[in-house]
Amino acid sequence: MTAPKVDIAPGAVLVINAGSSSLKYQLIDPHTEQVYADGLAERIGEPTGSAITHEANGRNRRIDVALPDHAAAIAKVAELLREDGIFLRESGLAAVGHRVVHGGRTFHAPTVIDDEVRAEIERIAPLAPLHNPPNLVGIQAVSALLPDVPAVGIFDTAFFHDLPADAATYALDAEVAQKYAIRRYGFHGTSHQYVSRRAAEFLGRDYGDVNQIVLHLGNGASASAIRGGRPIDTSMGMTPLEGLVMGTRTGDIDPGIAFQLARVGGMSIDEIDHLYNKRSGLKGLSGDNDFRAILERVDAGDEAAALAYHVYLHRLRHYLGAYMIELGRVDAIVFTAGVGENAAPVRADALAHLEMYGIEIDPDRNAVRSPEPRRISTDASSVAVLVVPTNEELEIARQAAAVVAGA
Ligand code: AMP
Repeated sequence: MTAPKVDIAPGAVLVINAGSSSLKYQLIDPHTEQVYADGLAERIGEPTGSAITHEANGRNRRIDVALPDHAAAIAKVAELLREDGIFLRESGLAAVGHRVVHGGRTFHAPTVIDDEVRAEIERIAPLAPLHNPPNLVGIQAVSALLPDVPAVGIFDTAFFHDLPADAATYALDAEVAQKYAIRRYGFHGTSHQYVSRRAAEFLGRDYGDVNQIVLHLGNGASASAIRGGRPIDTSMGMTPLEGLVMGTRTGDIDPGIAFQLARVGGMSIDEIDHLYNKRSGLKGLSGDNDFRAILERVDAGDEAAALAYHVYLHRLRHYLGAYMIELGRVDAIVFTAGVGENAAPVRADALAHLEMYGIEIDPDRNAVRSPEPRRISTDASSVAVLVVPTNEELEIARQAAAVVAGA
């Protein structure tokens, strides 16, 4: 059944985040923040089980449908939208904003995607072999459907492009590093940028005056130290593997472990890559990468889950300490993403016993669940501890709209 036509405000943006077998999308007005539609196509290219979870006009549905490739997925999404009264081609969209994971040394700002830009994203794809190729497939598929709407690339690395050299440089042979574009790039930049701005707004202070540590704790996880709106350090590096313990990724690990696995274990580079990215982190330690399950198991006295939890916290506090020293003065510590926004025990344990540094969590405030930014520190805490829900889609839409408007 087709719904009556929905009026889309001119200037809305279709946000696309294409993974290897998934395509997340959101149709949003970056000015009013109204979300017209939102969804996820999963198991694209898989023989069975592909489906689209789709929400528009207050109607939520899940459709099991064959999705041989990304082009088929976006075509099906357009069909679902038509049934909801949303006609993408006639909606006067300002742009399609594509999340692109790696911008390499080239891209440090939102960029309108033409043939040259597409070729450059392809050229730097070896830096992010799991991410950039599916991003490109998404760009191709949506551009074929909406050839007249400008496509804008929003790079996950861009916010960290100007990291100071001391934080961005690996102590590796300088010529080798130069030849292979090896440096610390940082990721989740769109989230760190959105959340840090929102935190300054929440505090009623100028972005340029606030020193903050942002902890993006989702299935992927990263920390950043931001001095007056400029990141001076971040925990992810050349790839999203470095730094915090994550759902399935190792985070920091002795580089020599790879030698042992190859020489003694006979593992190939691809096997080690898979081990580090997919079979490690919380999942590798406990069998679960969902933090809800970990917390339940910890409460039930499960030893493997308890070890995973404590290794996770140990690494988190390690970065927290480092960034406090790097920043010197810390005005705010900000939690975001699935774990950071929802897991009160993680927030409490991450910042336990830090009163001597002016950091004190209020247990009642910490227990509140809300989609709004909120303060969870006591009034006596000189460092404001905040929970600020991230909204990467809104940030991508804003940046894409601004580029197209020439801002
Ligand atoms: P994200 O990558 O930001 O979507 O975060 C996903 C992760 O957030 C999931 O894997 C869960 O581990 C975690 N998460 C979501 N809701 C909760 C919750 N209520 N308590 C603890 N962890 C949660």
